[in-house]
Amino acid sequence: MLNPCDDAFLAALGQRLPEGTLRPPEPRHLTEPRGRWPGRAGAVACPRRTEEVAEIVRACAAARVGIVPWGGGTGLVGGQVMPSGPLPLVLSLERMTALRGLWPDENVIAVEAGMTLASVQAAAEAAGRLFPLSLASEGTATIGGNLATNAGGTAVLRYGNARDLCLGVEAVLADGSVLQGLSRLRKDNTGYDLRHLLIGSEGTLGVLTAASLRLFPCPAARVVALLVVPSPAAAQRFLRLCEMRLGGLVTAFELIARMGFSFLAEVGPEVRMPFPQAPDWCVLVEFGLPSAMDPEATMASVYEEAAEAGLVTDGVIAASAAQAEMLWALREAIPEANRRIGAVSSHDISLPLGAIPGFIAEAGERIAALGDLRINCFGHLGDGNLHYNVFRAAGRSRADDDPLREPVKRLIHDLVHAAGGSVSAEHGVGRLKTADLDRYGDPARLAAMRGLKRALDPAGILNPGAVLSGRPA
Ligand SMILES: Cc1cc2nc3c(=O)[nH]c(=O)nc-3n(C[C@H](O)[C@H](O)[C@H](O)COP(=O)(O)OP(=O)(O)OC[C@H]3O[C@@H](n4cnc5c(N)ncnc54)[C@H](O)[C@@H]3O)c2cc1C
Repeated sequence: MLNPCDDAFLAALGQRLPEGTLRPPEPRHLTEPRGRWPGRAGAVACPRRTEEVAEIVRACAAARVGIVPWGGGTGLVGGQVMPSGPLPLVLSLERMTALRGLWPDENVIAVEAGMTLASVQAAAEAAGRLFPLSLASEGTATIGGNLATNAGGTAVLRYGNARDLCLGVEAVLADGSVLQGLSRLRKDNTGYDLRHLLIGSEGTLGVLTAASLRLFPCPAARVVALLVVPSPAAAQRFLRLCEMRLGGLVTAFELIARMGFSFLAEVGPEVRMPFPQAPDWCVLVEFGLPSAMDPEATMASVYEEAAEAGLVTDGVIAASAAQAEMLWALREAIPEANRRIGAVSSHDISLPLGAIPGFIAEAGERIAALGDLRINCFGHLGDGNLHYNVFRAAGRSRADDDPLREPVKRLIHDLVHAAGGSVSAEHGVGRLKTADLDRYGDPARLAAMRGLKRALDPAGILNPGAVLSGRPA
């Protein structure tokens, strides 16, 4: 049983920390982007140094007080807010933003966990390198949060998830010990890889305090195009064509459905649409090219070949960096448009690539049979990750959503599971999907996860209730 983070605990902890480390929570520490769960906290601890994090964790372990690690608060599955249970301490990494080291010749950077993703990208760029993780929330999300959730984003196709970009981590474990793992090595076969256990553990196995990350050469040029495709199956064949012609140079391949454009028009009529009539399906494609290749000519030649094969029918190739940004801005505005319209149920799913067209067709038919609903299906088609979001028909009230929420979610997740997919592709489990993990997770894997949690956090102080439900193994 955990104890609340009460005044007596805070008074004792405050004596062991520099003044100003413990603060009253601000609204941003107790809310999450979708407004589903109100967080609660006895206080927010804002340490500046790893030793202070260790001191806080040791005190919480001794007093059995729960800790909710907090990065930028942009997580979409409620991992960073704890709405029930004994009052926790929120442990924010927001003041741990230092650059620990930069080795451009090794393509390595080491940063503290509270540095925002945008700042990591900027530090890499200043050294003439690329840190390729890219998400719409990058101005606020922190590298600690990115690693804790194993974030994906728009460049996974070429560079991988957050996990693939991390060489090592420094972390405070549940007993307050500090795991010194800020490695710059690309090969290290010395037993269990605790880095990979902590990445994606959503603050339930340790508090990440710093990370060493892989950098890449900056592509000499990029070219972005928004191209109309006849169907998701054609989009996939087009991706294969791009990969055949360009090898690993395809950075992003994002699917956008007509509903995405309709929603943008509905919530932001000022948005300039690239087509007079929104197409049923299109893809936003980005290539990052070496200096020997002419960007526009490369895109044009791939376009021509695809058009001849009937895989693309129209499109806009950005003629300048500003146009490229404009096309990306459309794609990145879609989640916000979804949020403003308010989904009945949203799903961050991944599927084997070959199963995607069949899933889209079948899910569409079965959702239609449930009622008058709208589907906005978009996402990172290149890596099999769709955001499949279902909305009430225009003019219906939010009150109509409630009875549909569970059936819609179950229908989608059952279909995904049957197709060998995952019910959480890039956002994690948090508190939103613990029951889904119980339902769809492999029993042996779940038992091993519970065993690991017991071994590494026997009192259960780290992010209680996140990832693993309270259900006994
Ligand atoms: C507009 C928008 C677009 C988004 N797009 C994407 C996208 O394309 N791809 C994607 O993957 N995600 C996306 N997200 C989700 C979110 O931005 C990511 O999950 C991000 O990685 C969370 O980082 P954060 O610092 O905000 O973490 P928080 O929200 O603060 O925390 C998220 C989880 O990580 C834990 N945590 C945070 N910091 C630490 C730490 N230092 N040590 C241990 N645990 C920690 C928390 O306890 C919580 O469980 C998007 C969110 C928004 C609002």
